[in-house]
Amino acid sequence: MTPRIRLQPEALGVGMTSQRVRDRLIERLRGNGIADERVLNAIRTVPRHLFVDEALATRAYEDTALPIGHGQTISQPWVVAKMTEALFDGGAQPRRVLEVGTGSGYQAAILAALGLEVYTVERIGDLLRIARKRFRSLGLNVRSKHDDGRVGWPEEAPFDGILVTAGAPALVDALTAQLAPGGTLVAPVGAGGGQSLLRLRKDVEGRITQDTLASVAFVPLLSGLVD
Ligand code: SAH
Repeated sequence: MTPRIRLQPEALGVGMTSQRVRDRLIERLRGNGIADERVLNAIRTVPRHLFVDEALATRAYEDTALPIGHGQTISQPWVVAKMTEALFDGGAQPRRVLEVGTGSGYQAAILAALGLEVYTVERIGDLLRIARKRFRSLGLNVRSKHDDGRVGWPEEAPFDGILVTAGAPALVDALTAQLAPGGTLVAPVGAGGGQSLLRLRKDVEGRITQDTLASVAFVPLLSGLVD
């Protein structure tokens, strides 16, 4: 599948943001178990260096989380890949996906590049404004809103996939409720420092099964809005 993205000259990158450096990241992800070629191709194509501050651009293709301001981080590429891959596992073909925690906009951009209909919610207005500019300049069709993502997006539910990109002590019932039959929800869950990345599936009869994909460390899922 050809990723749906418009690339301006600065998206192509030079030096530490060049295609050669990005290809090294792809090989690293492959070596760490990411096998879905559609996901690897999206990561190869979406310019992660445009989702961080210019001062951090040279580190954008390291497999690491990076600060994006307001105490938040852009997720580690392997985690983005793992969460995205989980949506397609088992042959499911999701169409509409909700992300909770837009942050830099990178995860949403990966989903949009895969041709998914993306809805994303962020509680920090400042981060959302910057992410929206990125979506526009890359020609990505992402719907977003400034809200507490723990309530999901009921007007647009149900979703075939839901990705929660901030950690909570437990799964959020309102989000599970907005998952379509046959859908997959991926969320970091756990109290304290680290979390388990859980995958929850709802079968066509509405029965729920759950498994653990990895140990992860996300910033916390918080309540209340920030301008
Ligand atoms: N998906 C992001 C990762 C951002 S880090 C990316 O690709 O860059 C997690 C984000 O979740 C932060 O921006 C944080 O502000 C946001 N967040 C935390 N709690 C939230 C909530 N209740 N609703 C919406 N966003 C939330």
